[in-house]
This record gives sequence, structure tokens and C-alpha cells, in this order.
Amino acid sequence: MTTPTSPRLEQVRRLVGPVPGPRSTELAARRSKAVSSAIASTMPVYAADADGGVILDVDGNTFIDFGTGIAVTSVGASNPRVVAAVQEAVTHFTHTCFMITPYEGYVRVCEELAARTPGDFAKKAALFNSGAEAVENAVKVARVYTKRDAIVVFDHAYHGRTNLTMAMTSKVMPYKQGFGPFAGEVYRVPTSYPFRDPEGMTGAEAARRALMLVDKQVGAGNVAAIVIEPIMGEGGFIVPAEGFLAELAAWCRANGAVFIADEVQAGFARTGAWFASEHDGVVPDVVVVAKGLAGGMPLSGVVGRAEIMDSVHPSGLGGTYGGNPVACAASLAAIEAVEAEGLIVKAQRIEAVVREVLADQVGVGVLGELRGRGAMLALEFVVPGTREPHPDAARAVAQACLAEGVLILTCGTFGNIVRLLPPLVIGEDVLRDGLGVLRGALIAQR
Ligand SMILES: *Cc1c(COP(=O)(O)O)cnc(C)c1O
Repeated sequence: MTTPTSPRLEQVRRLVGPVPGPRSTELAARRSKAVSSAIASTMPVYAADADGGVILDVDGNTFIDFGTGIAVTSVGASNPRVVAAVQEAVTHFTHTCFMITPYEGYVRVCEELAARTPGDFAKKAALFNSGAEAVENAVKVARVYTKRDAIVVFDHAYHGRTNLTMAMTSKVMPYKQGFGPFAGEVYRVPTSYPFRDPEGMTGAEAARRALMLVDKQVGAGNVAAIVIEPIMGEGGFIVPAEGFLAELAAWCRANGAVFIADEVQAGFARTGAWFASEHDGVVPDVVVVAKGLAGGMPLSGVVGRAEIMDSVHPSGLGGTYGGNPVACAASLAAIEAVEAEGLIVKAQRIEAVVREVLADQVGVGVLGELRGRGAMLALEFVVPGTREPHPDAARAVAQACLAEGVLILTCGTFGNIVRLLPPLVIGEDVLRDGLGVLRGALIAQR
């Protein structure tokens, strides 16, 4: 058996030929005939293997992975604990449907979620497949519990691509364009975005700005839930000013609304804590989890106060595949990996290394800000000397990194953010090598 700390693939960036190489080019030609052009990919290369901090393509090129398939493979893309747990689970059964013949793995994942999310009150959970599905179910629960309809969301929010979560998502292109009509009773208010808010605006002031609109345009007594990402993900890794989230949570408490933290991207050890809400000392009523939850297997969950989660009538929630047994086994192994491999501390260490390597670039030329927490960090690009978004610079930097063998993603309402989401298991040598490439691309841009 492989030791959990020794990756199977050699942890080194290495381009052995052109990118994309001949086999990727061949696959791209087949893809263009078989796969809808509505599905796009960041990388022009096809994966053959992935492990630790690297991805190997079908032509033998090895890329440093700063994307983790969008914050999913935090424990590595083939963590030995996860692989072993999946292999063991599929030997027994791939599916029974928890709504027909339940199994222990589902119960254990719910126990783990209750134990690890903030708040020492009684909690219960339900499992689903995707982040969007979990967000939808959190909204369903909040509406039944409060007997109210209105859902409050924020500028720059991303909650998914289903009909309800499209309505909750802020950015029209590419997520919503042409896909309406959208679900009703979703209201959007400004978030706290320190880099773009008026100079010196506090979290409490930003919260008052949002809540005043909720009071006047929605009515406090109509709000079923406020749903917010404690760190905005797709919207640009926006860390709200201190006190913003706490004010929203307090308003919910005072007005009988449910405070829902969408921790799909920020949760599960990514930010150097089990959940990003912890950094702000906020205890959500309901937490939505997915992405990093199951080491790459599709699994999501809604966990919250027992009286809220139990307010729905029996059989009111569910789904054929929700809480698949193999995904649950993977999740339990991923939780064990976070503990045994010290990955929360490693996320904090990643932040320290990134800040150290890029320190002298921040505020210089096109790099307006470096922000984020743990291994969820972002670079915001601006036209030099202004705060005007500069998406071309973000794109150019990401492209330059890719050409050198470093996989980097962009994001942001304005498309001007480069985000770093390395696996928490990444070795420091590989991390520093990838950051060196990024640093070189930054210098070339200014
Ligand atoms: C990715 C994401 C979702 C949607 O998750 P899917 O699994 O893609 O449906 C929802 N909320 C946040 C914050 C996300 O980052």
C-alpha cells in the first residue's frame, strides 16, 4: 500500500513537447464532433493522470495544478485514502438509494458534517449530488421553516446553474444569458467588496447598505433566508470587510430569517479552517457544502439546525442518487486525510508562501490586490494606477502560466481575477516552482 504522504506521480513541472501535443489535438478533433460546444474547457490538453500537485496529460506533459478542478481535489486528485475507500466501497454496492435501503456511510457523513460545522447546537444534514442541488434544497428548507418566500442574495454571487440557482447567481454571461425566465422571489443587494467599496467602508456599514434595501424593497417579515458565500468564489474571491457577515447573521436572528452560508467553494479546509464562516466568528443556521467534500467524487450536503432541517415533511427532500455510497466512502476518507495529513495547517502554510513570493508585486503595475484566505487566494488586475478592471491582464497572465506548465484559473464578475486553488497536499517545492512562473508572468505584464 502506498504511504499517504508519498505521491504516485513525480512532482515536477515538465513539458516534453508542444501544448497541446498530438494526442490532445486528436482528442480535441473528436470532441468537436461529439461534445456540445456549449461545454468549454480551460485547458487545451486532456488528462491522463493526476496526483498530489500535478496533472499529467495524454502527451506526457506534467502541469502544476493550481486549480484542483475548481477547489474539489483539495486532498489531491488520487489521494490514497480516497482511492482505497472508493475501491472498497464499490466492491460491495454502487447504489441502493438511501430512500429505499439506507446505509451507514450516509449517516456517518451527516454526523461528520454536524460535528465540524460551526455551532454547538443540535444539527442534522441531508446529502445530494451537486452544489447547485444542495443550494436549492437549503432554500426549500428555509421556505418551509419560515413559511416565507423571499431569498436575499448578493452582487457577485455564484450559486449554480439550475433554474433557481441561476436566479441567485449574479453574472449573466455566461451563466444566465438566454436561459430565462428565472425563478421569482430572489432579491439581490450589494455585498462588501473592500477593494471596490468607498474607502474605509466598514463591514457594519456595508451590511447596513444591504439591509436597508432589504427592509425597503423586500420587507424583513418576508425574508425566508439570506444566502451568501462567506468568501465569494466565482465572483472574484471577495473577502468581505470584518463584521459584514456577523451583521447579516444578527439581522437574520432578529427577523426570523435563516442565515445560509454557501460554503461550496470556500468550505472544507480550503481557507485554513474547516469552514470559512469561522474566520468571521459567524455561526450560520444552515451550511451548504460540496466541491471539496468527497475528494473528487460528486457529493453535496445541507447541514443546519435540527429544528430547521426537520421542519420539512417526510419525503419532502431526496433524490435518486443523493448521498451515493461510494461518494460517502470517499468523503469519509477525505475527512480523515484532512485530519491525518494536517491539511488545515497546510492551507495556512500555502497562504504564507504565496504572500511571501508575490509580496513585492502587489500594488505594482497591473496587480491591484492579492487577497483571500488559506489556499483560496486571488490576484485582482487593474489598469495601472486605477481600479478599473483589467481582464486582458488576467487572461494574459493565466495564458503565460499555462504555456509554462502551470494550470491557473481566472474568475470574477469583470473577468479580471486570477485565482489560486492548489491542492492542500501540494509539496512546497512544486508550489514555489509554480509561483515562480506566476511571478515571472506578472513581471512581464507590468
Ligand atoms: C461551484 C459552486 C456552486 C455550484 O456547485 P455545482 O456542484 O457546480 O452545482 C454553488 N455555490 C458555490 C459557492 C460554488 O462555488
